[in-house]
Amino acid sequence: MTKFEGKVVIITGAAGGIGKATAKKLAEQGAKLALVDLNLDAVQQAVSELGLSDANSIAIQANVANEEDVKAYVKATVDKFGKIDGFFNNAGIEGITANVEDYPTETFDLVLNVNVKGAFLGLKYVVPVMKKQGYGSIVNTSSGAGLIGAPGFVGYNSSKHAVIGMTKVVALEVAPFGVRVNAVAPGVINTRMMRQIEKNTVPADAEGARKAFGAAVPMGRYGEAEEVANVAVFLLSEDASYVSQSIYTVDGGQISQ
Ligand code: NAD
Repeated sequence: MTKFEGKVVIITGAAGGIGKATAKKLAEQGAKLALVDLNLDAVQQAVSELGLSDANSIAIQANVANEEDVKAYVKATVDKFGKIDGFFNNAGIEGITANVEDYPTETFDLVLNVNVKGAFLGLKYVVPVMKKQGYGSIVNTSSGAGLIGAPGFVGYNSSKHAVIGMTKVVALEVAPFGVRVNAVAPGVINTRMMRQIEKNTVPADAEGARKAFGAAVPMGRYGEAEEVANVAVFLLSEDASYVSQSIYTVDGGQISQ
């Protein structure tokens, strides 16, 4: 019997690097998955790439910042599978790279809307289901940018600090009901998001930016999506049964808390 046999997990941002890598590991361990993403084609593609069956998976297009979409993905999951054991609250966007005086207000609004309101709405609608069940594990995706400052990232850093705040609040609210809430705080991870951040940061030399970001990591390299997925899967599993309100950095030693 594998660890996630019979378990139901929702993943947002499931078509992206970290979301898909986590879906793969959970599927290999027998989980039933609700894969949620803004990009329907990409999330359907993920379902077929991972070889998931109709009986064991559902692909849902949703904007995590839209309350009706969030209600709908939670309802679709419960209607199909009858419960939610795990929730990987992971969708996010990077915004742009600019110092505060040049940072467009509309970009700030957009980043906060997706990364903060999106994560909040996921918690708002998944928590009641888990409280009623009397069990469940939630993993929010913050970032190293949620723990330290990084010049040029006022929107993204503000949003990921907020994700840590809501992780701590909600963990305390739901602990008496058998529900755990933790966060992963990845460093520089090899996904579409870092390719975009490299271009945004040094448009004339994205490759140079990549080398510099990698060199700043004590382990001297980017992390892979699978390395974040391993930690998310642990926190979602019963192996982490006494772990809550914890922030797990996955960053090659870059940040010391
Ligand atoms: P990614 O761009 O590969 O994946 C993000 C996914 O989220 C995409 O599939 C995208 O379509 C989806 N998404 C974006 N906006 C959405 C919305 N409004 N509603 C629903 N889905 C939406 O990037 P990733 O690296 O896999 O990022 C996953 C999470 O990890 C994000 O929260 C990101 O901030 C965080 N993170 C990434 C890194 C990194 O270096 N890659 C570091 C720290 C934290």
